[in-house]
Amino acid sequence: MSIFSLKNKTAIITGGGSGIGKAISEVFAQNGAFVCIIDFNEENAKQTLDTIVAKGGKGIWKKCDVSNQKQVQSVIKEIASSHSIDILINNAGVAHVGNIENTTEEDLDRIYNVNVKGVYNCMHAIIPHIKSRGGVIINMASIASSVGISDRFAYSMSKGAVLTMTYSVAKDYVAENIRCNSISPARVHTPFVDGFIAKNYPGKEEEMFEKLSKTQPIGRMGSPEEIANLALYLCSDEASFITGTDFPIDGGFIKLNG
Ligand code: ADP
Repeated sequence: MSIFSLKNKTAIITGGGSGIGKAISEVFAQNGAFVCIIDFNEENAKQTLDTIVAKGGKGIWKKCDVSNQKQVQSVIKEIASSHSIDILINNAGVAHVGNIENTTEEDLDRIYNVNVKGVYNCMHAIIPHIKSRGGVIINMASIASSVGISDRFAYSMSKGAVLTMTYSVAKDYVAENIRCNSISPARVHTPFVDGFIAKNYPGKEEEMFEKLSKTQPIGRMGSPEEIANLALYLCSDEASFITGTDFPIDGGFIKLNG
C-alpha cells in the first residue's frame, strides 16, 4: 500500500497484459482501484488479472485491439454499462527500429495505427463517459517524444503525436474536470527489452544489456514498477493541480546526457 489511494476508482489500462501496463494494473489494484485490463493478447491479460485477484485485487480483462475503433467502442460501452470509469491509461504500444530509409510505408501505418490511432480511439470512446464527473487520462509517451533517438523514426513520430494529443485534450477538457498528462520513460526493463536483445544481438545479450543500461546516466534501466508508481501518483487526488504536462522518468536521460 502506498500513501496514494485509488479506492473506489475504476481504471482502464490498455496493454495491461505485459511490461509497464502489467505493473500499472498491479499497482493500481493494490491501491484500491478496480482495474479493466484491455489487451489483444488474451493470455497475458488473463494472467495479469489472475495475479491481481490472487493478491486480493479486483478487476476484469477484455480482449481488444486498440487500433480498431469498432472494437474499442464496443468494449468501452460494455464496461461503462456496469462501471463508472474514472481513469484511462493509454499504454498499449508497439516499437519499431529503423531510420527513415529503412522504414516502409507499412511500418509507418502499423506504428501509427496502434500508437497514435489507438490512443485517439480510447480517449474518443471514454471522454463522453468521464466528462460529466471528471477523470484522469495518462498517455504513455517516451523520451523519443522530445529528443532525437537513433533509428526510431516511426516510433518517434508516433510518440511525438502522443505528447501533442495529450496537450490538446488537456486544454479542451480542463473545464470538464478531466486531467490529461503523459509519462515519458527512457529504457525500462520489460520482457519486450529482453526479447529485443535476444532477437537482434544473439550471443551478445549481456554486453547489450549493459550498453543499454548505461544510456541512462543513472546507470541502469527503469523498472515497470517505477513507472507504475508515477502513474499512481498522477491518477491520485494528490495530483489534482497537474494537467497538460509531460513527465520524463528517465534516469537523467534527457537533462544529463550532455
Ligand atoms: P512495454 O515495454 O512498453 O511495456 P510490452 O510489449 O511488454 O511493452 O507491452 C505492451 C502491451 O501492449 C502488450 O501486452 C501487448 O499485447 C499490448 N498491445 C500491443 N499492441 C496492442 C493493440 N493493438 N491492442 C491492444 N493491446 C496491444
